[in-house]
Amino acid sequence: MIWFVLAIIFLVIAISLHKSANKMDRQYSAPSPSPSPSSVLSTPRKTYWEIYRDINPTKASDIENLLKIDFSRLSEKDVKEKIASIDRFAKSLKCGVSQIKTTYLAEIEKYPAELLPQMINSTSRELANEASAFNISQTNTISAMMIAWLKERHEQLGQPDANINAPSTNDEIEIVKALNPRVTEISDLRERLKSLREMSSLYKCPMEQLRVFYINDVKKNYDGKYENFHYLPEAYKYMAHKAYETSSLAGVAPDNTSYGIMCDWLSDLMVEEREKFLATGQVKCIMCGSRNIKLSFFKDCFVCNSCNQKFGGL
Ligand SMILES: [Zn+2]
Repeated sequence: MIWFVLAIIFLVIAISLHKSANKMDRQYSAPSPSPSPSSVLSTPRKTYWEIYRDINPTKASDIENLLKIDFSRLSEKDVKEKIASIDRFAKSLKCGVSQIKTTYLAEIEKYPAELLPQMINSTSRELANEASAFNISQTNTISAMMIAWLKERHEQLGQPDANINAPSTNDEIEIVKALNPRVTEISDLRERLKSLREMSSLYKCPMEQLRVFYINDVKKNYDGKYENFHYLPEAYKYMAHKAYETSSLAGVAPDNTSYGIMCDWLSDLMVEEREKFLATGQVKCIMCGSRNIKLSFFKDCFVCNSCNQKFGGL
């Protein structure tokens, strides 16, 4: 859903900025003196883009680099509409014009690449709405820029759909088993292979190293201190929710999505951490304050031996 949410956010911001952009346009054109007949004859009248480039040379070149288009070949209408859309995009991303593409793609790369085709589809539907809301050509919208970059990203990943759905080799299934030791059904292993190939391509990390890669990433945000342990169950709940959300789009069962696999790895890390906190005597009952604590049978939470309270689980 995130691309949809992003698209909506852009549209709302876009509408409010559109009004101020129009106002700025009027202010901008008002003070220009009307040329005298002689100057019209001696020097050809500058185009809108030429005037814009004279006033904002750096930004003008950033704009041309961003879209890789020669703006002097565009009509005045297209130039104005494209500049207004770029300004709206930069404001909504809170970055400069030269950073728009990298900032947008960094946002996109937070989500599994398996969602790229759906992101392209939903942004394509948004294209017409944005064009009519601002009364501009579809080719001059923010959505048009987003679609071009999403398609570019999809192609860079080397048509992941084809690779991801390729038949599984025995070697690959062995890697999947090693990464998911509790999974035994071959159909689940095949679905997990699809998600792991996807993650491997997204994070540019060999499949067999994905678990270590992921755990290291978690540890960048979690310092291993007992008082911060609650971040792990919170992260787990969030990802379990995403697993259900992306399941039908990814065409695999929730447990077998990238998020489902990461939940399993996080679950293992939580068991290790609970054992560590028990061994170092840091665990205190949240009800009675007792330090006489054990792990539950499945090691998925702590149990107080004094009052039987369960805590530190999901
Ligand atoms: Zn207790």
